[in-house]
Amino acid sequence: MNSNFRVGILGATGVVGQRFIQLLEAHPQFEVTSLAASDRSAGKAYSEACAWRLPGEMPECVRKIIVQTPAPPLDCDFVFSSLPGDIAGQAEESFARAGCPVISNSSSHRMDMDVPLLIPEVNAEHLELLDSQRAARGYERGYIVTNPNCSTIVIAMALAPLHRDFGVASCVATTMQAVSGAGYPGVPSLDIADNVLPFIGGEEEKIESETVKILGRVSDGRIVDADTKVSAQCNRVNVIDGHLAAIRVKLSQAASLDQVRESLRSFTALPQELKLHSAPDRPIIVRDEVDRPQPRLDRDAGEGMSVTVGRIAPDNVLDYRFVALGHNTIRGAAGAAILNAELLVARGYLGQNRLR
Ligand code: NAP
Repeated sequence: MNSNFRVGILGATGVVGQRFIQLLEAHPQFEVTSLAASDRSAGKAYSEACAWRLPGEMPECVRKIIVQTPAPPLDCDFVFSSLPGDIAGQAEESFARAGCPVISNSSSHRMDMDVPLLIPEVNAEHLELLDSQRAARGYERGYIVTNPNCSTIVIAMALAPLHRDFGVASCVATTMQAVSGAGYPGVPSLDIADNVLPFIGGEEEKIESETVKILGRVSDGRIVDADTKVSAQCNRVNVIDGHLAAIRVKLSQAASLDQVRESLRSFTALPQELKLHSAPDRPIIVRDEVDRPQPRLDRDAGEGMSVTVGRIAPDNVLDYRFVALGHNTIRGAAGAAILNAELLVARGYLGQNRLR
């Protein structure tokens, strides 16, 4: 393997941790060298600590790695974090303080003023925050970069081209979220079978606050939130992977249905220009069939990294409505963090931090 960077994964035995391992198995730049999880797993070989729940075999390269607790130092150049939110805050800070960059999925630091909430196609310029983060926190070589909540990513990616081209004045989003979004074992089967749960703790608030930060602009070393009103309602549905969002938008400038459709369809950005390894050719795929997108059929589009948009139509209350779908553990979690790391390498933020 032509690996350049040694990578640690915090929360390596979980739903997102396993997805990291699967996606990194053949990665051209990153090689997994350290794994960390709870005290329940620490001290065991990964093959013993982890009940592998993705299709296919556990990759051979991680089977013998001894799982550690998520505390520095680990034998790696940077860490991906998929720790539970209540653990991640302190653990991630301790890695950053010890000089190890943290590329996180967890919610703990997403809304910190000096932490980029990054979607490389949408707000790559937010990486500028890293200079002020290091100065304010006294981090020398470490830093924290986060990716958004798994539904927020889908919604923000679909809004991004519309916001760039016409301005999005307001957005109302109703999500239908897969059970894998709750981790393992997640929602009890007797609660979700034959059912929809109209509550996911903290999720609506995350979508509403994260979206305006992501669409915001950097000014004087900080983010000025986008002037977009966002309202979200979240539901858990009986789907394994793939978060769907029914979205209505009011635009700041008038646009025709064709212009809205073309804005979404033609969207590409820096990751496509830089040909980053995990960047899909088309970040947004527009489908014209009346019954798409669907989780089972469309979640793997672009190797799970594309957001599929369909049902684009004028709306009687706001201006337009559409449905957007993304793979929650790939574009919504592990794949998002890996793309963030690829951008950090391309922008020189990882190369200068290498520990060896
Ligand atoms: P999960 O399946 O419950 O996995 C949790 C991981 O954290 C496991 O590796 C677990 O290790 C470890 N862990 C639990 N308690 C710990 C402790 N006290 N100290 C150290 N490690 C501990 O959860 P997940 O779905 O992968 O989610 C992980 C994070 O990613 C969460 O913050 C979640 O909000 C975020 N996220 C998830 C998704 C998704 O679609 N699932 C999407 C975006 C973001 P053991 O096996 O040893 O218990």
